[in-house]
Amino acid sequence: MTELLYLKDCYLREFEATVIDVAEDWVILDRTSFYPEGGGQPSDTGWMEWGQNRSQVTHVMKKNGEVYHVVGGELPARGAKIRGIIDWDRRYRHMRYHTALHILAGVVYHLYNSTITGSQISEDKARIDFTLEDLSKEKVEKIESEANRVVEEGRNVNIKFISREELVSNPQLIRIKPELIPNIPVLRIIEIEGFDAQLDGGTHVANTREVGRIKVLKTVNKGKFNKRLEIILL
Ligand SMILES: [Zn+2]
Repeated sequence: MTELLYLKDCYLREFEATVIDVAEDWVILDRTSFYPEGGGQPSDTGWMEWGQNRSQVTHVMKKNGEVYHVVGGELPARGAKIRGIIDWDRRYRHMRYHTALHILAGVVYHLYNSTITGSQISEDKARIDFTLEDLSKEKVEKIESEANRVVEEGRNVNIKFISREELVSNPQLIRIKPELIPNIPVLRIIEIEGFDAQLDGGTHVANTREVGRIKVLKTVNKGKFNKRLEIILL
């Protein structure tokens, strides 16, 4: 299993690791800070350096607990020590958008008791789908202004690791049905202090102020109880 350094520290831009396996165009490391595509957040990209070599990391994905780094050009040998460098510009945008979506999810839940049916982040926009029956112009304005209020409050965004038992005995901690809680002993929670907590494996900013201004670009009717919000960050 590749150790996932970004779970504890979302701001780790560079790291050292050992090559565990290599073939065709991919590399497996003993540890990585590269985020593998998943949970609506795109994969990181960046570079791998060893000796005099520097190759591009073009895509990262997770398979059976291992993280596959797709590398363009020269590949390091098995056992080589490498330095991984994240394309920070791209990753930081993903972090801002991911936290923005959690803020929106919290706002819509508090206001309308509605939950999420899906979400997708990219570098310059994001979308989130809710189990809402109607999404009037007034509601959208209310959601947008409440979300920006949370941004301006400058709330800390904390990463917490709790046991499955702790979560099951504190159902108010998280908006998830007990049967949907993954069957793993330690769970990762992203907590927006005093506002919201969600089970999550993604990367987030440390304070809501880093998100910047949230603007709802448009809404899409995806069905009777399925409404989409598309946002950009200014
Ligand atoms: Zn998330």
